[in-house]
Amino acid sequence: MDADRITEKMNILADAAKYDVSCASSGSKRKNKNKGLGNASNGICHSYTEDGRCVSLLKILLTNHCIFDCAYCVSRKSNDIKRAAFTVQEVVDLTINFYRRNYIEGLFLSSGIFMDADYTMERLVRVAKKLRTEHNFNGYIHLKSIPGASDELMKEAGLYADRLSINLEVPTESGLKLLAPEKNRQDMIKPMGYLNKAIIQNAEEKKLFKSTPMFAPGGQSTQMIVGATDETDHQVLNSANYFYRNFGLKRVYYSGYVPVLADKRLPGLDTRVPMIRENRLYQADWLMRFYGFKVNEIVNDGHPVLDLDIDPKLSWALRNLHVFPLDINKADLQLILRVPGIGVQSAKKIVSARQFRRLNWENLSALGVALNRAKYFITCYSNIFEKKDLAGTSIKQFILAESTSKYLKTTQQQLSLF
Ligand code: SF4
Repeated sequence: MDADRITEKMNILADAAKYDVSCASSGSKRKNKNKGLGNASNGICHSYTEDGRCVSLLKILLTNHCIFDCAYCVSRKSNDIKRAAFTVQEVVDLTINFYRRNYIEGLFLSSGIFMDADYTMERLVRVAKKLRTEHNFNGYIHLKSIPGASDELMKEAGLYADRLSINLEVPTESGLKLLAPEKNRQDMIKPMGYLNKAIIQNAEEKKLFKSTPMFAPGGQSTQMIVGATDETDHQVLNSANYFYRNFGLKRVYYSGYVPVLADKRLPGLDTRVPMIRENRLYQADWLMRFYGFKVNEIVNDGHPVLDLDIDPKLSWALRNLHVFPLDINKADLQLILRVPGIGVQSAKKIVSARQFRRLNWENLSALGVALNRAKYFITCYSNIFEKKDLAGTSIKQFILAESTSKYLKTTQQQLSLF
């Protein structure tokens, strides 16, 4: 390899890839076999930069040449930037070299679209195939699928990649038409539908025949940019919910729009990246997937935008005070999960522990309950009744006052989940 040229390409193509946030490696359990290279298992690729983005994978584009002109994208064809392209072999060599030096745990490979969808997808697949078959590479591979790629290529991609993802980019079809008029939502949906069916079929076959080869064991995910168009959180979460339900997605990633280009269809270049909104969307997404909330309970026509100063679970509780207080020693698990300050693990521990004793505040604290929030919504085996029939606005003020470090820090900081 010409080292200088490769370094130059790396600088260009790693920089262009940084806007894609959908690179967590959760969900794949590829084991090291035949004394091969690497071992992708849960959690090993989770490393994030200060602003929350994952860096432990080699995250690059195959090329930033693109035939499309999506307004929000730094690689759009009308943008006057330096262009570069790796060969298939260069990406393979870089991955192996970086892995051997312990710099990375795997590969996250995306690409601008050159020539057409299949031409590009075929090269992405060849990288993964070479890594797996020629280098016995067992590290994590996440391939971005190219919208419009054929079923045959998606099938091959699933045989070599741990996770596949097709970015929806803009949450609604009308937003996509505005910012990427050359793109077609159906070109994104069709490969997603193919993958969903193939993943289900693979799971069925695996039950019958243990020797069935793995197929995209980390499933499929997608990414939506928020803040580039004027969709409400209600629209964003409705869209996410639709794709979770109909395409078996493992994750939807919400990427706060980073203004990089001047375009009258986009927010101005001085617009702040909506980091808190992005985080609230992740929290709402969590509520949908693990806490049994429906989208319409979190956001709806009357409440279309997530509160930025409090998390969506607390927001729901304050709008539904008639449900509370819950007697923690009697309430159903599904209701306990709705109490602010009680996570999934704590809720399960409560249900298990109360079989043996009636729980008081001390017990709840020991089970991991954040009493500074939960105490306004529950009663327990104690003489001290904390709720005192407060109004929602008062509860909110008390909680915010006690949680300054979490809720009232500078708006530039990304908040942690629950
Ligand atoms: S197709 Fe992808 S790489 Fe090309 S301009 Fe659109 S978002 Fe950017």
